[in-house]
Amino acid sequence: MGDTAVVVGGGIGGLAAAIGLRRIGWDVTVVERAPILEDAGAGISLAANGLRALDELGVGDAVRDASRGQYSGGTRTPQGGWLARMDGSALEKAVGTPIMGVPRSTLHRLLRDCLPAESLLIGSEADRVEQLDPGTVRVCCGETVLDADLVVAADGIGSKVRSQLFPAHPGPVYSGSTVLRAVTERAVDLSTDFELTWGHGAEFGHIAFHDGRAEWHAVLSLPAGTRFADPLDELRSRFHTWHDPIPALLDATRPAAVLHHDVDELRTPLPSYTVGRTALLGDAAHAMTPNLGQGACQALEDAVTLAAALATEATVRAALARYDAERRPRSQAVARAARQAGRMGQRLSHPLAVALRNTAMRLTPSRAATRMILRHHAWVPPRLS
Ligand SMILES: Cc1cc2nc3c(=O)[nH]c(=O)nc-3n(C[C@H](O)[C@H](O)[C@H](O)COP(=O)(O)OP(=O)(O)OC[C@H]3O[C@@H](n4cnc5c(N)ncnc54)[C@H](O)[C@@H]3O)c2cc1C
Repeated sequence: MGDTAVVVGGGIGGLAAAIGLRRIGWDVTVVERAPILEDAGAGISLAANGLRALDELGVGDAVRDASRGQYSGGTRTPQGGWLARMDGSALEKAVGTPIMGVPRSTLHRLLRDCLPAESLLIGSEADRVEQLDPGTVRVCCGETVLDADLVVAADGIGSKVRSQLFPAHPGPVYSGSTVLRAVTERAVDLSTDFELTWGHGAEFGHIAFHDGRAEWHAVLSLPAGTRFADPLDELRSRFHTWHDPIPALLDATRPAAVLHHDVDELRTPLPSYTVGRTALLGDAAHAMTPNLGQGACQALEDAVTLAAALATEATVRAALARYDAERRPRSQAVARAARQAGRMGQRLSHPLAVALRNTAMRLTPSRAATRMILRHHAWVPPRLS
């Protein structure tokens, strides 16, 4: 078996894949089109499955040290009533950790720090992938040509590699929701680590960080492409009657820090995560709505599973077949569950449906809610070392 790989994309998934491949002795080049290697997003929550994958990559402790355990909080109504309480201690008892909240920039830096600078080709956009012969695959980035034994396409939801390999696939579609988010400029006095508040066709949530700042996000059911002249002002007027600390989180935010993206997803599942010697990973393979906070966690699972398969199987072909068999059913099931969670969450707008959902949530014992969460979190990684 060969041992050189090109990873297209230096996001969380691509960096994790590169770390995993290096841990099994492969020579890896990461090609990233952005001129600076960073994640511009706000914050991220990592569940036990993502953290276990990070442990296998050797970076779990560093990420935990930089994160805050999400022990308290839950789901609320705009008036502040509780629909469900989150029990971080119960999760910790069941899977060894609560969900951890961390700034994306920190997670990205910790992953990047595991890779030698010479393995990162920054400011290079991959145009296409060519299967040269059964054993070699080529990545073309303008004038630069890179040949390898394996290509990992971790080029995100708008993956060019995916459209090239699956030209008949419809690609990502708009989920119906647009999201505005930011990290506060200063610490905010929060009585909980994590909250989600559901109104009619709108959601507001926060994740507290260990330095007292927090990331917040506002999800709105609006037509694709809707943009606001002054996003922070727009949110203040939409959410000013919602419970504390929502207005305080908005007040602690610089206008320039607000990011606004439409939420797209890969609604039509891919028929395979591998073609020849190319493996798709992360959002390129299974971009999902963020309702379960699992997109990056699934990308981390992909990375460890791919490296473990390559370390164990006798040929790249057998390893890729195993990767596809292990990752496709699970990640596509999580994507389906995330879409369903979105439908039952902020996307629900009919008053009767909202009232029924709220009653059902209030009546669900917290142990049952924890059991539902554990379906996704209780993943055991294959060993890399
Ligand atoms: C609002 C929101 C909240 C979320 N919250 C969570 C959460 O709490 N927990 C969680 O687990 N997940 C969460 N997710 C999902 C998570 O952000 C993604 O699943 C994850 O970032 C995907 O990582 P990736 O590396 O696959 O893709 P990306 O992060 O998109 O990285 C792709 C990289 O490839 C580069 N690239 C693209 N094309 C090329 C090319 N042709 N050549 C070279 N480079 C290229 C891009 O510049 C980029 O750096 C959330 C998503 C959203 C939208």
